[in-house]
Amino acid sequence: MNKGKLIILAAPSGSGKSTLAKMLFDDFENLKFSVSATTRSPREGEEDGVHYHFLNSEEFQQKIEEQDFLEWEEFYSGTRYGTLRSEVDKKLKTGYFILLDIDVKGAVNIKQIYGEDCLSLFIQPPSLKVLKQRLEDRGTETEQSLGLRLERASEELEYTDRFDQIIINDDLETAYAQLKHTVTKFMNQK
Ligand code: 5GP
Repeated sequence: MNKGKLIILAAPSGSGKSTLAKMLFDDFENLKFSVSATTRSPREGEEDGVHYHFLNSEEFQQKIEEQDFLEWEEFYSGTRYGTLRSEVDKKLKTGYFILLDIDVKGAVNIKQIYGEDCLSLFIQPPSLKVLKQRLEDRGTETEQSLGLRLERASEELEYTDRFDQIIINDDLETAYAQLKHTVTKFMNQK
């Protein structure tokens, strides 16, 4: 059986990353989602164990101490997010490709661990102005959390040169065509 590999989609939130990820899952049956852990509350429609493993601060801290995370980050006033070692290892062993939807620093850390077995992609919004509009349209943010996300986004844009490839999401269909091409090529590499 082929050894599985990792594909990371990193982007400031509101870049259209989740939509692009959904499109990939529809096209690639051999692609599985790495369900991260987080201490943030579920949004409407989000399910525990499907979108995230929703943990309280104590549970998350315990997992840090037990070294259950490949990487974890804390942002947005204390909210933590982390990639579980067990999620990745279990799916890799069965030969699947694994999609990680994680932040930019987490992506750089995972790429360092997995090297050639990992394709790191940065989904870039056309501009911070467009990003702000998308987040406002999504309607999930308070004024304060919107400000924090935008601040973080401008920091994240400075990391783009650490990625294997940048995909600019101006027009969704164009961005997806580029993404699909890159992913297909990576999957077919021996
Ligand atoms: P959201 O709250 O919008 O679901 O996610 C906020 C940010 O956290 C997104 O950029 C998302 O990709 C990132 N994120 C989700 N899971 C992880 C993770 O396991 N590790 C890291 N480093 N970031 C994550």
